[in-house]
Amino acid sequence: MDLAAAPPALLTRRHLHVAGDWVDPSSGDTIPVENPATGSIVGEVPAGTPADVARAVAAARAAFPGWAATAPEQRAAHLDRLHTALAARADEIARTVATELGTPLKLATRVQAGLPLTVLRSIVDLAARPAAEYTVGNSLVVREPVGVVGAITPWNYPLHQVVAKVAPALAAGCTVVLKPSELTPLTAYLLFDAITDAGLPPGVVNLVPGTGPVVGEALAAHPDVDLVSFTGSTATGRRIAHLAAERIARVSLELGGKSANVILADADVPTAVKVGVGNALLNSGQTCTAWTRMLVHRDRYAEALDLVAAVVAGYRLGDPFDPATRLGPLASAAQARRVRDHVDRALADGARLVAGGPDAPLPPQGHFVAPTVFADVHPDSALAQEEVFGPVLAVIPFADTDEAVAVANNSRYGLAGAVWSADSDAALAVARRMRTGQVDVNGGAFNPLAPFGGYKQSGLGRELGAYGVEEFTELKAIQR
Ligand code: NAD
Repeated sequence: MDLAAAPPALLTRRHLHVAGDWVDPSSGDTIPVENPATGSIVGEVPAGTPADVARAVAAARAAFPGWAATAPEQRAAHLDRLHTALAARADEIARTVATELGTPLKLATRVQAGLPLTVLRSIVDLAARPAAEYTVGNSLVVREPVGVVGAITPWNYPLHQVVAKVAPALAAGCTVVLKPSELTPLTAYLLFDAITDAGLPPGVVNLVPGTGPVVGEALAAHPDVDLVSFTGSTATGRRIAHLAAERIARVSLELGGKSANVILADADVPTAVKVGVGNALLNSGQTCTAWTRMLVHRDRYAEALDLVAAVVAGYRLGDPFDPATRLGPLASAAQARRVRDHVDRALADGARLVAGGPDAPLPPQGHFVAPTVFADVHPDSALAQEEVFGPVLAVIPFADTDEAVAVANNSRYGLAGAVWSADSDAALAVARRMRTGQVDVNGGAFNPLAPFGGYKQSGLGRELGAYGVEEFTELKAIQR
């Protein structure tokens, strides 16, 4: 079935998921869901209220003692059933993300549906292990679930960002209330269809869709939420941290980035450029870890710029359901406008346009922005400092390794990055000097067991793997 062509009724959801049931919302207000490739409305979901949040938090609180006391292997068995139920929906998930976010279907299948399944599988395996206990002097140190988790997620990877919170929280023995992004709520509903099929105990995971200022703030401020786990913009993360600080609740924040891809003089430049451009443009550049600053040694700069322009020219914009499409639209009109403003500002700041730009041809409808590359970008300029969250790459030359490291670290963010060199020890040495939570050396592959998160204003805490499960625990020392 092609969901882009499906009648809107098929994509309309009318309930919240609370205490194991699909329940009526407290208000009749709804939020429309748009297909950003066409601008047409494809469905709607309830606009949750603080009363809905209170009901869902109460359900999660009631379910907490039972779930926390459930044996790890039983929790793992629940998550395993959830994996099976979700895998059965992989095609529907990919099509829904392609429809409500605009990710090209091929990429949506591999990343938007495939990645969360990989992450969930890794957490199933971790969940089966009891939390490690150890002895220090006369103390027995144990880990316990932190309690009720409020999870607030963005639109760019609408299932992955949810699974990266919900699965480790459940594995740790916590219960959850989820507020997905209002731009991409339909994908979250598919997770709850799978949760229903998997027969998770009532109240262990609850869903309240709605806007950030209403449902998100009510969840972050709720006195019975023990930890707020948030992924999204740094500005919203700051607001959530303030709300949680009022009651000294814990927060886990996965925020923005401005990651550097450092290409040393002896690197395999064609590979570094091809992979680097692919990373920067992934999901139309709406990826928090995107390597949006390409730093190239002056000896290879001209060669790299020619290659960048050639690689970008191969990206075709268009209908996410067309197999030839490499780049879909931006998620919303507002996002496309923000990205275009960044492009205009970079031009005004004197950056040299190498590809794309405001006059590049675009599909006739939808929130498209052409993949755009600027060269000679000043490391202090707005384009090098601000997260664009669109298909815009800044290329910056450097003279030596010390300058490369200084420019890479000249950012208020510190989420990800990359280094390329024929000398893997030299690349590793640069990776160690970069102030970021992740660095890929010579195209090192994504590892779902590795800690994921940021330094500086890219966030607090870590997701994924054993580190992600620990994030949802408290430490207790018992003296004997
Ligand atoms: P956003 O901050 O606008 O929204 C994220 C979520 O927060 C949404 O569910 C939204 O409804 C909610 N929200 C908005 N205002 C709120 C408020 N006042 N109180 C509580 N909740 C509120 O971000 P976005 O536009 O959805 O996502 C894009 C941003 O997310 C980018 O900056 C990107 O870098 C970041 N991001 C970071 C990571 C990461 O892992 N570090 C991953 C993906 C996205």
